[in-house]
Amino acid sequence: MSPVNLLDFDAAALEKFVESIGEKPFRAKQLLRWIHHRGARSFEEMSDLAKSLRAKLADAAQLASPAVLNDSTSDDGTRKWLLDVGQRNAIETVFIPEDDRGTLCISTQAGCAVNCSFCSTGKQGFNRNLTTGEIIGQLWMAEHALRDSARTGASGVSDRVISNVVLMGMGEPLQNYDAVLPALRLMLDDNAYGLSRRRVTLSTSGMVPQMDRLAEDCPVALAVSLHAPNDTLRDSLVPLNRKYPLQTLLAACRRYVRAAPRDFITFEYVMLDGVNDHDAHAKELIALVDDVPCKFNLIPFNPFPQSGLRRSSSERIRAFAQHLSDAGIVTTIRRTRGDDIDAACGQLAGDIRDRTRLSERRAGKTIPIAASVH
Ligand code: SAH
Ligand code: SF4
Repeated sequence: MSPVNLLDFDAAALEKFVESIGEKPFRAKQLLRWIHHRGARSFEEMSDLAKSLRAKLADAAQLASPAVLNDSTSDDGTRKWLLDVGQRNAIETVFIPEDDRGTLCISTQAGCAVNCSFCSTGKQGFNRNLTTGEIIGQLWMAEHALRDSARTGASGVSDRVISNVVLMGMGEPLQNYDAVLPALRLMLDDNAYGLSRRRVTLSTSGMVPQMDRLAEDCPVALAVSLHAPNDTLRDSLVPLNRKYPLQTLLAACRRYVRAAPRDFITFEYVMLDGVNDHDAHAKELIALVDDVPCKFNLIPFNPFPQSGLRRSSSERIRAFAQHLSDAGIVTTIRRTRGDDIDAACGQLAGDIRDRTRLSERRAGKTIPIAASVH
């Protein structure tokens, strides 16, 4: 029997596993704390477990996160890992240090089936869902890496611990619900990462039924990728809109906020020159979200090869933000981080694939690796 990966298990699943090897359920809590809270990389380190139990664990289980293919740090301190998820696929994880927080942006799928027109991941197509172990493994791996370089001072910038997690990397998290939910539970579990639910943000392009399930199962902060104020335009940018049009999506947003009192929805809006950035679009948006407690986050479009789209000018983005602010909607403009290492929102796929090919051609290998992150 091949060993099970304990990173695949949330607290409840770990208890079942512990019982299946004939141990008392309380061992699950000990294990959880060792793996996620204290960041053990091997069973050997788990010093308060009996030697016989450690040996049993080493036989039946493993702690496996995706292998790091590349690790780069931007001039602004943003750090990006390229991770191997097999079958010639790679995903990316990005750490963004700021004065008051450290945010880890993680991926949930290799590729994405939604196929938004402005997104390089979408252009790649869909490869497969990540497992819970591959999702939480990104946080587990990043914690280790950041702790290690804080100890050695290798990065040259002061590394901060991860205080926030955003599911805004590659993939549509709500199209991988069953693997994402245990990962979210681990992020919130006091014996694992102990993050408050407001410090974990899931971003969706609008999977309405799963938004309702999430409100019930684990109401973390929700970001919704809106990108357009009417169905005609949104149909052309986010094809999922044909299945869940705006009024259906906004009704789901209202239900979500009702289930998570004192919360608001963050609407993401990618700024595309001449496409969705006119004053008239801002006015239409204000009317559209009238009764949804919300904030807006405007994302300057990050171009990638063959997108055929351009980023709105800074003046246009500021004017658009001003319209929303004047209507009483808290609006922020996302700062572009890590673009010197292609770690900014939506950059890459093509890029990475090309560069990887190049480096592999240099190394005499021919395996193409596709990756993307927002
Ligand atoms: N699939 C989810 C989460 C990942 S995308 C979603 O769509 O919400 C995270 C954010 O990055 C989304 O708001 C997405 O629209 C945005 N994004 C995608 N491509 C981008 C690009 N090229 N430039 C800027 N933002 C982009
Ligand atoms: Fe998928 Fe999000 Fe990219 Fe759309 S923006 S293709 S939903 S990852």
